[in-house]
Amino acid sequence: MPVSVPPANRSDDFSPDGDPAAGWHPRTRMVRGGLERGPYSETCEALYLTSGYVYPDADAARRAFDGTDERYVYSRFRNPTNAQFERRLALLEGARFARATASGMAAVTAALMSQVSAGDRVVASRNLFVSCHYVLSELLPRFGVTVDFVPGADLDAWRVALATPATCVFLETPSNPGLEIIDIAAVADMAHATGARVLVDNAFATPVLQRPLALGADVVVHSATKYLDGQGRCLGGMVLTNDAAFDADILQPFLRHTGPALSPFNAWVMLKGLETLDLRVRAHGTSALAIAQAVEGHPAVAVVRYPGLPGHPGHALAMAQMDGCGGGMLVLEMAGGPGAAFRFLDGLRLIDISNNLGDAKSLACHPATTTHQRLGEDERRAQGITPGLVRLSVGLEDTRDLVADVTQALDGALSVP
Ligand SMILES: *Cc1c(COP(=O)(O)O)cnc(C)c1O
Repeated sequence: MPVSVPPANRSDDFSPDGDPAAGWHPRTRMVRGGLERGPYSETCEALYLTSGYVYPDADAARRAFDGTDERYVYSRFRNPTNAQFERRLALLEGARFARATASGMAAVTAALMSQVSAGDRVVASRNLFVSCHYVLSELLPRFGVTVDFVPGADLDAWRVALATPATCVFLETPSNPGLEIIDIAAVADMAHATGARVLVDNAFATPVLQRPLALGADVVVHSATKYLDGQGRCLGGMVLTNDAAFDADILQPFLRHTGPALSPFNAWVMLKGLETLDLRVRAHGTSALAIAQAVEGHPAVAVVRYPGLPGHPGHALAMAQMDGCGGGMLVLEMAGGPGAAFRFLDGLRLIDISNNLGDAKSLACHPATTTHQRLGEDERRAQGITPGLVRLSVGLEDTRDLVADVTQALDGALSVP
């Protein structure tokens, strides 16, 4: 392998033209994409823990600030470790531009707030991660932005909502926690006809299973905290796009001046996480399907919601849109309601109770009383988050141990102690 010295100038444009990574398959991109070796020819990506950069002379500093020279000036703007993470994920999502953020919510908030003004209108799918729902239902309206929610799987509802012009559309598929599947290409067609940008939260599917930009989305947002890290270590996020004007004139100034920058340490952890992303995501999916099949029909379970099961209302769409895999998240609706949900969680011996997800460790939670507690009962009902619903983030343990643990906890949940 050639030893590379970092270029003195660094472009924000991650267009793969001329990048050898353009000819690589995704798993090669995950391991080597964006790699930029330093002067010591290190094997592993270098961690540049620095807030600032120095210049050989005063005029070089001037040229850096007026844009004549593209170089690192301050880590709130850019950092060489962050740039390797950004370029690697950009290659996986098929994006020319990528901006790392301190968390998934920083990515969502920046992607939305940077582009709307008072008087604008946003259309969003109703079933959302609770903090995304807060930004859309409470924060944006405070600044004079109208937000209309639609049931995301209902294309007629999107058609009606998008008959009125909107600035942008925001959706999550599969949704957290309901695992609703939304037809990205169909919504993008309708949104573009009315001039709206389409933002997709790709945290659950990851680019291994779903590439929203190729399906017509304009912007992808990520919680890198979840599967991209994959081992429950660091918070992080990313906004990705092919829209050069959105990146340069809207997103980048907002991020530079409001400052939700990712720590280079976290970026380095995420970079290493990406190396195993394909292996991990497919293993999560294999175990999730096995558990879903094993517990379907168990008397303690009213409904198993998993996009990989033929009974899921979005099954056919998920198989087409998500590379034939339902992902690593699974939802059980307990026949015995919330009491049974608590008995099930308390009966788990291997799987931990935690509101996090996308970890190597399997984690289970009761969304109605934890992650989605703040929604209130009416909104929870509207989002299909029933009191008996348990969310399972299937980890990387041996599938047989996971099936055994879930099954014994379901058996135990049948009887009131
Ligand atoms: C967790 C999550 C987020 C927020 O990400 P953080 O990194 O926790 O800020 C956004 N969207 C979805 C779908 C999530 O699951």
